[in-house]
Amino acid sequence: MTQAQYPNVQLFIDGVWGAAQSGETLPIRNPADGQVIGQLARAGRADLDRALEAADKGFKVWRSTPAFERYKIMRKAAELLRTRVDAIATLMTMEQGKPLAESRMEVSAAADTIDWFAEEGRRAYGRIVPARAEGVQQHVLKEPVGPVAAFTPWNFPINQLVRKVSAALAAGCSVIAKAAEETPASPAELVRTFADAGVPAGVLNLVYGNPAEISEYLVPHPVIRKISFTGSTPVGKQLAALAGLHMKRATMELGGHAPVIVFEDADLDNAARVLAGSKFRNAGQVCVSPTRFLVHESVLEAFREKFVAAIGKIKVGNGLADGTTMGPLANPRRLAAMEAGVADALQQGARLSAGGKRIGDSGNFFEPTVLTHLPAGAKFMSDEPFGPVALLNPFSSFDEVVREANRLPYGLASYVFTRSAKTADAIGRALEVGMMTINHLGLALPEVPFGGVRDSGYGSEGGTEAMEAYFNTKFISHLVQ
Ligand code: NAD
Repeated sequence: MTQAQYPNVQLFIDGVWGAAQSGETLPIRNPADGQVIGQLARAGRADLDRALEAADKGFKVWRSTPAFERYKIMRKAAELLRTRVDAIATLMTMEQGKPLAESRMEVSAAADTIDWFAEEGRRAYGRIVPARAEGVQQHVLKEPVGPVAAFTPWNFPINQLVRKVSAALAAGCSVIAKAAEETPASPAELVRTFADAGVPAGVLNLVYGNPAEISEYLVPHPVIRKISFTGSTPVGKQLAALAGLHMKRATMELGGHAPVIVFEDADLDNAARVLAGSKFRNAGQVCVSPTRFLVHESVLEAFREKFVAAIGKIKVGNGLADGTTMGPLANPRRLAAMEAGVADALQQGARLSAGGKRIGDSGNFFEPTVLTHLPAGAKFMSDEPFGPVALLNPFSSFDEVVREANRLPYGLASYVFTRSAKTADAIGRALEVGMMTINHLGLALPEVPFGGVRDSGYGSEGGTEAMEAYFNTKFISHLVQ
């Protein structure tokens, strides 16, 4: 596919694709060369009002559609999506930058996510509670919470959206999604796939525009009953506050600063290989990206050598080119953040072990970077780099590493490498995080919980917990006469 085939992206409201009522558009750029590749419809108030009306109507239709029908439509969407993987992946790489193989994996995984939530929707049981009095029946019903406003970011344009939409649809909710303006075509194709599979008009709507304008209008709006946001902690706090003010249910999937703890008894070859793969996936623009590598002082140098050797194999380039294993950063803001963060760390005394610079002067390319011995005051030690930068520091004792790992207000993912079951058990209990993997990577599957604690947000986007977030619980006590 050539760049000429990237589409202009429209709004999807009440089952119809169309321009914004104002006719306004926003440019879409390819992060590999900065060129404008398409235009995006920019929704205004009138478009949002239409989307709200559609979601209100869609909810009435979808909540009364039998769970088994919803399941069949969703399974069909998953099958259709599998036939569209290559085309959608190409769009995603053009707008987001990640290597084609990663885009393909993301679209294929989205089909599995739809399947899993479709199945869960069939098994969303209520319960009957034995009553204290004769003739009384006590029923606990699970009912869909209502129209959902879902806000998703640019790092995983489909993955972030499919989790919210699949859980919401499986529960019987309608959705107004606002996906990221920087990466709009691939989420639009996901929405098109659901529509082609038979999701009725109004049930799933997609808008783009000014994020703050849209959230400030949708979150308080009486039609919307639930908010789900994935993005940065500062924006998440604003939206959570607004949701609280209007008593809206909310799921918040926010930033992280994942500690990686390599104990002295770890298999260092395995740790270096696994971490080099995951750190630079999606150029490090991942909320669960391994970030603060805390390595026992006795093995820091050995680990560093193996890690740097492993990342030497990374091939940075245009995500559409054969052999590329890391693409450009998704937008110029990330490039500027990498340059500023590296300069600050070096100025404060950190050592550079690999990378550290922008590549070329066109596109947002940045070298896979390794910094070591960062002082606590270095900005990267508290601000999520959200880019291809690994931070390696030594520790000397279990208590010290736990203190450092729990130092920041974030609590999303963590990674541990040790051969000791006792150490693994102790660290599993000690870290204030939502997720931990030990000696391997195993996060973000649809069937397991995915979410953080503290400033990383609340709620889960995987596992049975993810469905719960889209249900109200209703209790009915009935004296049968
Ligand atoms: P940002 O905080 O401006 O935006 C993050 C996302 O939130 C974007 O998709 C944006 O469209 C959306 N957004 C921003 N303001 C909003 C509002 N008022 N209402 C609704 N949505 C809004 O920052 P950015 O430059 O795009 O990304 C930088 C930081 O965001 C990263 O450093 C990272 O911490 C965080 N981020 C996290 C994730 C994640 O998966 N948790 C994804 C992308 C970005």
